[in-house]
Amino acid sequence: MSTIADNLSTLAGRIQAAAAACGRDPASIQLLAVSKTKPAEAVREAFAAGVRDVGENYLQEALGKQQQLTDLPLTWHFIGPIQSNKTRAIAEHFDWVHSVDRLKIAQRLSEQRPANLAPLNLCLQVNVSGEDSKSGCTPEDLPALAAAVAALPNLRLRGLMAIPEPTDDRAAQDAAFARVRDLQDSLGLGLDTLSMGMSHDLESAIAQGATWVRIGTALFGARDYGQA
Ligand SMILES: *Cc1c(COP(=O)(O)O)cnc(C)c1O
Repeated sequence: MSTIADNLSTLAGRIQAAAAACGRDPASIQLLAVSKTKPAEAVREAFAAGVRDVGENYLQEALGKQQQLTDLPLTWHFIGPIQSNKTRAIAEHFDWVHSVDRLKIAQRLSEQRPANLAPLNLCLQVNVSGEDSKSGCTPEDLPALAAAVAALPNLRLRGLMAIPEPTDDRAAQDAAFARVRDLQDSLGLGLDTLSMGMSHDLESAIAQGATWVRIGTALFGARDYGQA
């Protein structure tokens, strides 16, 4: 079985190759280690291998791991669906939130962000696959949402996040990620972050401008329970 350190070095190679293929500086692409369903010890092992940014989808699970890892200087990212009653804990315990798709949630995060902490870095999740069941605001609603969120205090709107419908077809992957990049450009807000690309499609995401790739399976192995 490969270790997390082996997996991380394989991923660094994939990121470098993908960056080289499109003439980007690999340093402009950061790896977010997605540890949902994995124990705190796995995150500790990833830290020892060089990981500094950790993404979690479920609040209670994340808070439990944070308590076991207070000795490590990790940056915590919330990347899962957000219910209103979870915003206070998210505002208090995370540095980034990638999955905001409603103004009400952003307003609560802004109000509840503790004054002694830096502004909460925030990405708006946009749905570019058009499935009703998916999280994310529609491309049509994005400009008004982005303008409203950009005006809130205690938050720093950084960019967009997307989870396109999974496909092995590279052209389809490229089209979806290019759509996200074009939406970001068309906002004209000077945003610097595109959170897109997972274990199976990071090459395409990097070719289309990803600055965070969110990697679970390819780093930690198959998940033990739950789902993507
Ligand atoms: C689980 C998850 C990931 C990681 O997916 P992998 O395919 O395991 O790399 C990335 N982003 C989000 C939002 C997730 O929920």
